[in-house]
Amino acid sequence: MIFVDLDNTLYNQEQILRYVFRRIGRFIEAEFGIPWVEVFSYLMDAAKSKTLRYPIFNDLVNLLHLDISPRRLAEMYRLYTVEYLERRRITLYRSALRLLETADVVIYTEGCREVQELKIANIERGYGLKLRFIVVEDKLRRENSGIFERTRPEAYIGDNPYTDFLVPNRLGIPTLRVLTGLYRGILNEAVEPAYRPSITLRSLRGFSPLLLRRLKAG
Ligand SMILES: [Mg+2]
Repeated sequence: MIFVDLDNTLYNQEQILRYVFRRIGRFIEAEFGIPWVEVFSYLMDAAKSKTLRYPIFNDLVNLLHLDISPRRLAEMYRLYTVEYLERRRITLYRSALRLLETADVVIYTEGCREVQELKIANIERGYGLKLRFIVVEDKLRRENSGIFERTRPEAYIGDNPYTDFLVPNRLGIPTLRVLTGLYRGILNEAVEPAYRPSITLRSLRGFSPLLLRRLKAG
C-alpha cells in the first residue's frame, strides 16, 4: 500500500483557489473599492510562494489597510471553498486517476476535516471511485508517526516539502515529491534536509511499481 497526498498531488488546487480568490476579490472591490484583480493576484502569488499555511489574509489586510478582520476573510475562504466543492467538479491529473484506479492507495491529507471530506466526495462522485483516506489536522505533528507505523505504507507521495515528508522520512519510509500544482516552484533546497523527499519527479507519470521496488531496495 502507498500513501498519497491529495491537494496538488492528485489535482491542481489552483482550480479551487482561482474561484475562491476571485470571490474574495469581488467582495473587497464592492466593500472598499480596490480592483478585485489586484487582490486576486496578491493572494495567488502569496499562496504559491508562502504556501497556504502562511497567514496570507493578515498580510493582505495590512498591505491594503482594510477595515476588516483577517479571521473574517479566512472564514469567507472556507465558505467559498465549500461552495466550489458543491457546485463544481475537481479535475484530477490523468496520471493521478490512473494511480487511483490501479494501485493500492490510501489518500493521506491534512486540513479542515469537513473541507477535505467534501473534496474526497467530490472526486468520488465525479469519477465513480471509492477512495480510502485519512485526514489529519497537521502533517508535521509527531503523533502522526503512529499512523505510518501501524499501516507501514511502502512510500509516501506528496508535493509540499514544508509539510509532507518529515514524518515518513523519520521512519525510513521512502518519500516522493511531484512538482505539480500550487507549490511546484518551491525548491527542495528551501527546507532543511530532514524535510526533503527521497526523490523528486516531474509528475505522477514518472511513478511506477519498478521505481517503488528500487526505492525500497535503497
Ligand atoms: Mg499537497
